[in-house]
Amino acid sequence: MLVQLVTGGGKTNLAEDILRDAEARGSVAWFVAHRDNLITQAARRFRGAGLNVGVIKAGHKYQREILIQVASIQSLQSRFGRVQAPDLIFIDETHHALSPSYLKLFEAFPEARVIGLTGTPWLLDGRGLDEVFEVMETGPKPSWMIEQGFLLPSRVFGSRRKLAMVSPTNGGDFDLERAEQILSKSEVCGDAVEMFRDRFPERGRGITFTCSVAHARQVAKAYIAAGVPAEILTGETPELEREAIIERLVSQETRQLVVIDCASEGFDLPELDCATLMRPSASLTLVLQQMARAIRPVFAPGYDLETREGRLSAILASSKTHATIIDCCSNTLRHGIPELDHEWSLEAQDKKTRAASKTEDGETLAVRQCLECYAVHPSAPVCPICDHEHPVESRIPKARAEELREIEKAELERLQKERQTKRRQEEAGQKTLEDWLQIARERGYKPGWAYQRHKLRQGRRKAA
Ligand SMILES: [Zn+2]
Repeated sequence: MLVQLVTGGGKTNLAEDILRDAEARGSVAWFVAHRDNLITQAARRFRGAGLNVGVIKAGHKYQREILIQVASIQSLQSRFGRVQAPDLIFIDETHHALSPSYLKLFEAFPEARVIGLTGTPWLLDGRGLDEVFEVMETGPKPSWMIEQGFLLPSRVFGSRRKLAMVSPTNGGDFDLERAEQILSKSEVCGDAVEMFRDRFPERGRGITFTCSVAHARQVAKAYIAAGVPAEILTGETPELEREAIIERLVSQETRQLVVIDCASEGFDLPELDCATLMRPSASLTLVLQQMARAIRPVFAPGYDLETREGRLSAILASSKTHATIIDCCSNTLRHGIPELDHEWSLEAQDKKTRAASKTEDGETLAVRQCLECYAVHPSAPVCPICDHEHPVESRIPKARAEELREIEKAELERLQKERQTKRRQEEAGQKTLEDWLQIARERGYKPGWAYQRHKLRQGRRKAA
């Protein structure tokens, strides 16, 4: 079974409940993830919740007698024969589940029940997860979560620059080397820093997603030069250093965490006010995950968080009433903003559906960017931030544009044929030189054409 839940939708609690239930029944249950830091975090969390948890991962001794195991998919592969077969396999970040290592896992333990968790059940190439799962349960929609005070609404600010980013083809993602060249230009980095500093001059913390280590360094340098203390976190950062870096962000010693995307999975700090996007992606999953870093509320103390009123009051009384998204690479124009509701399905998303919801530039019709304040907001005739009235909607879906082009092409062909027939009719029959000159005048041709035609026709008649 696949479970779709938005960030903040209680994913962790659900996993905890299911594992606790398995433990109580004496079943062997695995919580499988694909990255070291996810495994360490999950083990710590489940232990904190009172579960007895073992770890299957390089550097850890396998403890057979423990029912609940948090396992690394890489380490599992070499140990299929040596571990106690699970009754239940729980998969975190399930959009990786079609990779060969996971398919081998399912094959090795066909008896096990598989429960997958994901925020976004689609894969980058549009393939569905129905190859692995038979049913899907979808959780509450983002709009409901916001209305109930579980998540914050967002304010999204796009770049005033149109960057010459080449859209990926064939279901792939952006060429990051090329994107990096564009996004590491000093004026682009400068914009990103300025947009953050304008909104958070003294307080406020953010996370910035970049294309590469070199890019991250450049962006961090720009923040520091502008008086915003920043640090870099990559997938390669050792665990202890990672913890120290996050600790400094928590204590507000630093105000910007500059990351390469892999470092963002499983990283969760509700105090982040802002997410800055400098890593273009064709993946809705990745972009939603990036933005999700900023949409968690920080509740002011002293309110009853069990009720909607309590939660909303606690949000209003806190320093963070909305998430700020600074989008330097049009990710929100391609994929929309966090509060958009999606219709998820297990099946592959067909091209037609996709083409109907996007423009030819690959921008989603669900949002638009204000040309006055550069806010990206749900499609509406007036900008909700600055009240600017947008020009009449001129964007049309890709599918419609293709249709129109087909019609145009057919019409053009018909007109061409018609003209050709008309010309042939005019030129048919015996013609004197004077007749040819007349046709040439009507069509705006040079007299030379008439002489040539006359001569050619005469020559043909003679030959006949
Ligand atoms: Zn505006």
